[in-house]
Amino acid sequence: MNADASGPRSSRGKSVLFCAQCSFENPVSEGWLVVSDGSERTIVCPECGHVADHRTERSAPAPRAD
Ligand SMILES: [Zn+2]
Repeated sequence: MNADASGPRSSRGKSVLFCAQCSFENPVSEGWLVVSDGSERTIVCPECGHVADHRTERSAPAPRAD
């Protein structure tokens, strides 16, 4: 019903990540090199190798107690 010509993809809810080094920009799930190491995740720019984001996934509540 929507005849708007705003492009094929209308989902703009994705979080776009910007590289401060070479201005590369893309959604985190598309194009970026995601390096997972244990509980850590590093987002690396595929253009220049700049680490754009580094975060741990420890913030997730772990209900299991060893
Ligand atoms: Zn870059």
